[in-house]
Amino acid sequence: MYEVIIVGAGPAGISMAAEARTVGIASKQILVLEKGDTHSWAIRKFYPAGKRVLANYKGIEAVCAGVMCISDISKDETLTYIDRAIEQYQLPVHYNETVHSIRPLGKGFAVETSKGVYETRRCVIAIGILDKPNKPGYRIPVSLNKRIHYDLTSVALENEECLVVGGGDTSSEYCQYLVEHGNRVTLSYRRTEFSRLNRVNYESLMALEQRAQITILRGSNIKQVEADTAGLARVLFEEAQFPAQSFAHIVYALGGTTPTNFLKAIGIAFDGSVPVIKEGYQTSVPGLYLIGDLSAGKKGGSINLAFNMASDAMQNICTHTPDFCQS
Ligand SMILES: Cc1cc2nc3c(=O)[nH]c(=O)nc-3n(C[C@H](O)[C@H](O)[C@H](O)COP(=O)(O)OP(=O)(O)OC[C@H]3O[C@@H](n4cnc5c(N)ncnc54)[C@H](O)[C@@H]3O)c2cc1C
Repeated sequence: MYEVIIVGAGPAGISMAAEARTVGIASKQILVLEKGDTHSWAIRKFYPAGKRVLANYKGIEAVCAGVMCISDISKDETLTYIDRAIEQYQLPVHYNETVHSIRPLGKGFAVETSKGVYETRRCVIAIGILDKPNKPGYRIPVSLNKRIHYDLTSVALENEECLVVGGGDTSSEYCQYLVEHGNRVTLSYRRTEFSRLNRVNYESLMALEQRAQITILRGSNIKQVEADTAGLARVLFEEAQFPAQSFAHIVYALGGTTPTNFLKAIGIAFDGSVPVIKEGYQTSVPGLYLIGDLSAGKKGGSINLAFNMASDAMQNICTHTPDFCQS
């Protein structure tokens, strides 16, 4: 059993692990789980090359409370700073390991990932708010660009024939959203069972199917997408039992989880759309903390704010369990 598992290796997750090392927790009692192949996925993906990283981003005062802190530096310097922290504090990070669910146990949590299940006394969620869309391996004709989507934030689909592709939480949420907006929805999933869905999303999806509001093509693999004579997206499947079919829109949800349902499925209380956060960034579930952009509210977060939240969360842990902290 680990003393603390941290989900997400962005600024919040890495600084949380550094804080834990600083209060005397051994490396082998800490585990950081990161779904990307390196730390700080959001910074690498969304910061333009050469960007100046501001210490007081969005006017958030750059006060340093914990062991990590940045001044105004470049994108590369920021990544190097985090590289050095991982090295200096000997932080154990597992890359390419996505956390699918967190289950409270009697005393602690079971953390289920793409590679296994770990037990821990405390858990800190630091997954940020920006998720990465995966794209399919086959080529899609450019003429279909307006019919192909990787999220539903930039397009309003109503009363359309839609295909959702995927089997994770995002795909279930997209199906729910599309049905609510009057679309006729088909879901294509390559597996026959939905093992990756959290409870809320699984039950919602099954309810849609029972009410015949959605057609689920279990065990279906798309081999090709082409434009039909009407300019719609014609989808060809590898399996003979699934005939080719045309759709007005295809929404890909190939991996990733949406923080809201991920958090609700753990049992964290919400106030409207916002998770209830107590002192030291503890959630309504004792021993479960939420730091970084996830806890920053509507104004959004910053790197130094994420660092400071980690320091506050560690102080809170030390206050409640002084034996845990040796210095
Ligand atoms: C364009 C842009 C410019 C910005 N400029 C600045 C700036 O100049 N200065 C500044 O201070 N801030 C800036 N910010 C904000 C800053 O980047 C964020 O506040 C900060 O990255 C938040 O850190 P975080 O650790 O909470 O989340 P993130 O940085 O998003 O890290 C979360 C990590 O969790 C991983 N993850 C997600 N889900 C899972 C899962 N299920 N299992 C395992 N791992 C998972 C992700 O891959 C990622 O590596 C900017 C943000 C953007 C988008």
